[in-house]
Amino acid sequence: MPTIHPIFSSSDTITGVPASDTSSPIGRFAPSPTGRMHLGNLFTALLSWLSVRSRGGRWVLRIEDLDPQRSKREATILIEEDLRWLGLYWDEGGLENRGPHGPYSQSERHNLYEEALDRIKATGFCYPCSCSRADILATQAPHQSDGRVIYGGHCRPAHLPDPNAFQAQPGRYAVRLNVPDREIEFCDIISGRQRMNLSKECGDFILRRADGAWAYQLAVVVDDAAMGVTEVVRGNDLLLSAAQQIYLQQLLGYPTPRYAHLPLICNSSGQRLSKRDHSLSMEAIREKSTPEETIGLLAHLAGLIPEAAPISLSELIPLFSWDKLSPQPSIIL
Ligand code: GLU
Repeated sequence: MPTIHPIFSSSDTITGVPASDTSSPIGRFAPSPTGRMHLGNLFTALLSWLSVRSRGGRWVLRIEDLDPQRSKREATILIEEDLRWLGLYWDEGGLENRGPHGPYSQSERHNLYEEALDRIKATGFCYPCSCSRADILATQAPHQSDGRVIYGGHCRPAHLPDPNAFQAQPGRYAVRLNVPDREIEFCDIISGRQRMNLSKECGDFILRRADGAWAYQLAVVVDDAAMGVTEVVRGNDLLLSAAQQIYLQQLLGYPTPRYAHLPLICNSSGQRLSKRDHSLSMEAIREKSTPEETIGLLAHLAGLIPEAAPISLSELIPLFSWDKLSPQPSIIL
């Protein structure tokens, strides 16, 4: 089904509009408070912190508690305590909502997401979708080897843009964003030039679920823009999300931050760490190691120092450079 995207008609490739001031960067750490942090979460936090601190920037702590079933306030308290233990202090955000862009917990930012969704609805590029996950799985072929589900466009209106797509829509439905059959291009600080076509990688994606929950992609884009974030550091499992987010930034007229997608830290059997890997959780780390030892290990894994020797944050700041990180997809412990 042909899709016209008048807002992108001037070029075949979509590229983000760079966030202007990168001389004084604003970075953020955006944990989901579903459990205690592990070494992989610390790796992300440390590198994001070092990147902004080495250039005199600001660091924001945003709590990504969109999922009410899995998010726990106690987990947020522990995340904050663990960051303080390491010395990774933030300038804005956290539970006390310090700073001009609060609240800093996504569960309290619904009105901002609503306003952004209304603007996207007005473009006519999103539509109600009543497909269940089972419907989508049944119509998708071939299955993606990594478990990703590509939406086949079952509910997509015949003509887009359709600003009336939501008029008199009965029942519960998710809101899906129509994606263009175009390459989205961006340069990742670590992995280099990326080109992704969302219609092939994920298909039209969800902005709001049928149960009313906001999708991660929309919330992140709205929050990064509202908080003036110029640099996003996170695991490379979210590389495709960067393309989805750049497309949303274009629709909403937001600048695109710089992206650094880090190699994933994996356990000795090659599986990425999860909150269930207790031996590498913050609880176990704090029992066995000092903050300087933990920072030394992480800095060594990042390639910033030759050996995993204890080091303080202030000694590490001048040693930080993105050039030292290798573009490997994972780091095995
Ligand atoms: N909340 C996400 C996580 O904890 C991170 C999202 C992001 O950094 O964009 O994995």
